[in-house]
Amino acid sequence: MPEREIHRAVVTGGAGFVGSHLCDRLRDTGVRVVCVDNFLTGSVDNVAHLADDPGFELLERDVTEPFDVAGPVDVVFHLASPASPHDYARHPLATLKAGAHGTLHGLELAGRKDARFLLASTSEVYGDPLEHPQVESYWGNVNPIGPRSQYDEAKRFAEALTATHRAHLGFDTTIVRLFNTYGPRMRPLDGRAVPTFVSQALAGRPITVAGDGQQTRSLCYVDDTVAGIMAAARAGHPGPINIGNPAELTILELAGRVRELCGSTAPTVFVPRPGDDPDLRRPDITLAGSALGWAPVVDLDKGLTATIDWFAATHGR
Ligand code: NAD
Ligand code: UDP
Repeated sequence: MPEREIHRAVVTGGAGFVGSHLCDRLRDTGVRVVCVDNFLTGSVDNVAHLADDPGFELLERDVTEPFDVAGPVDVVFHLASPASPHDYARHPLATLKAGAHGTLHGLELAGRKDARFLLASTSEVYGDPLEHPQVESYWGNVNPIGPRSQYDEAKRFAEALTATHRAHLGFDTTIVRLFNTYGPRMRPLDGRAVPTFVSQALAGRPITVAGDGQQTRSLCYVDDTVAGIMAAARAGHPGPINIGNPAELTILELAGRVRELCGSTAPTVFVPRPGDDPDLRRPDITLAGSALGWAPVVDLDKGLTATIDWFAATHGR
């Protein structure tokens, strides 16, 4: 599919962490934005600064129900879904429905508008991977009835739904597989490692490392992730394309970096590891480089410092 000019976009899940940064970036580049959200795990606070912007509209809608948007749309960015393990454990059916019904309704909207559809998928489609790093051609190792399955399988179904609309119905679609992303506007209690560790370190509380902390993740700063999403939306490569930062570290190392950057002397406490928690995760981003000309540019210390500053300013110590 050709490069697409984007004049007006719909962002489902636009009041969430990644979605609100995407709304900002779209507005910065002159794109008019319709943010669609039901505030299940997001907040109007994340887009409050856009409230008086005439190029920004906020629609309170549950995308698991059919929804429509008036006027022309060039791209539908489908991000609506609980995303942290804590959130999708609390909202298991809503997560399955967001991946299934929500994706279908987003595709149907794109079809009515002759718009491109971008699915925000996830590295979780690789499950607890047996190949490392993860290349897009790897099919993954997912427990279909495990404690993370409501999220993993919903996203795998969402990918199938998106690929099927492209292959059989001629839809213009792209799939990005986002890897762990962090930054300002994460919720302190969303249960993910970065906001948890930062909140704990700023408060001088012990840092809760799961298991022995030797499991790895590869953390991408939100500005980089959003740049990758934007590049994918313009390019229209069918995907899936991994968007993530290949700099891999153990969770124990992450706890150490956060503690040092926060100036905390509180100890590490080891807590039980959640079921089916992946051991290793690192994206191969060769395809993102060749197809989109994209690579992350923010290193961990810089991204963590920006995140810590925001948490300290917003939530205090
Ligand atoms: P988030 O919870 O902050 O944002 C999700 C948003 O979707 C929230 O504003 C929530 O209210 C909204 N939402 C949920 N269900 C909805 C529904 N039925 N109708 C309308 N809105 C609904 O999570 P996030 O971290 O910003 O993740 C955004 C997207 O990116 C998700 O699809 C997630 O799977 C994907 N993703 C995120 C990461 C990451 O590390 N943050 C990694 C991989 C994939
Ligand atoms: N984790 C941890 N302590 C916490 C929260 C998370 O050690 O307080 C671990 C978690 O078990 C996992 C890793 O950090 O091994 C990343 O977890 P997160 O929820 O941030 O992302 P995901 O598991 O979805 O990749």
